[in-house]
Amino acid sequence: MTDTSTRQARIAWFERICGDLHERFVPLTDGEPASYIPELATVDPDRFAIAAVTTDGERVGVGDHDHAFTIQSISKLLLYGLALETHGRDHVLERVGVAPTGDSFNAIALDDDRNRAPNPMVNAGAIAITDLVVGATLDDRVEAVRSMYERYLGHRPEVDREVWTSERATGNRNRAIAYLMLSRGIIDDRVEQTLDLYFAQCSVLITADDLATIGATIANHGVHPVTGERVVRRDVTRDMLTVALTCGMYDYAGEWAYTVGIPAKSGVGGGIVGMIPGAGAIAVYSPRLDAFGNSVRGLRVFEELSDEFEMHVFDPDSPWRGTD
Ligand code: GLU
Repeated sequence: MTDTSTRQARIAWFERICGDLHERFVPLTDGEPASYIPELATVDPDRFAIAAVTTDGERVGVGDHDHAFTIQSISKLLLYGLALETHGRDHVLERVGVAPTGDSFNAIALDDDRNRAPNPMVNAGAIAITDLVVGATLDDRVEAVRSMYERYLGHRPEVDREVWTSERATGNRNRAIAYLMLSRGIIDDRVEQTLDLYFAQCSVLITADDLATIGATIANHGVHPVTGERVVRRDVTRDMLTVALTCGMYDYAGEWAYTVGIPAKSGVGGGIVGMIPGAGAIAVYSPRLDAFGNSVRGLRVFEELSDEFEMHVFDPDSPWRGTD
């Protein structure tokens, strides 16, 4: 077989696997869409997509893979990369650590010993990271975030205005966290502006295809697999992937690392992206969540894939490990 036909056969094989998993988990209707952001409760709970993109730009998509949903917490990973790239590790580590907390993502809790937010994947850390977005005005800062998204997505991001408005109207817990950090000198005195930006970054619309492309860019050490553009610095992707593995799945992260073992980030919108360094990324979208805030079907799909195809990053026999 030629290289191209081998590649096509591999893609067709993986598409069949994703199709089978999709069919198998459609009947799984445990969990509920997030409702603490009222607008999120209005999504169609039965939507279900699996998508994958390889580091050389091959793609697979089954189910509702082109249906748009809000990125939510997955944005935290991208903004973390932006902050590291803009300010460097030391500056970022002064404000946000890297230790998993075991607390819920919206806990009003800081690292008191070091006077910083615990990690960039809980809301405190994510808000402190958003505070680090540079710009004299809100518009400049929105532009910085927008152009970051544009590089990952290959097109201008769209914001779900209803979700954004809904988060702003009800995000008082995030306000409490932010003002606590202001009082401790962790973030600057522009709290409402930073929160606005944070709510906007969470309300960006993506599809499962987009999400897999974002993940594949990170898995490809920062180079977009389709446009070939460098989106984020190579050394920064190492830190992004590490934090994804240790803190990416809310307080389920430890079990996830043990059982699934794929650096991943989930969001309360129902998305999960898992990144296999050097190989590619898989995205699942299904808005019914478990008590941790992770997509129920998403968890099952990743468990199956990791188990059956040795995708755990520490699997000694993993066939997926890239050479790059
Ligand atoms: N915008 C959401 C919040 O701040 C993001 C949470 C999430 O996806 O975990 O509550």
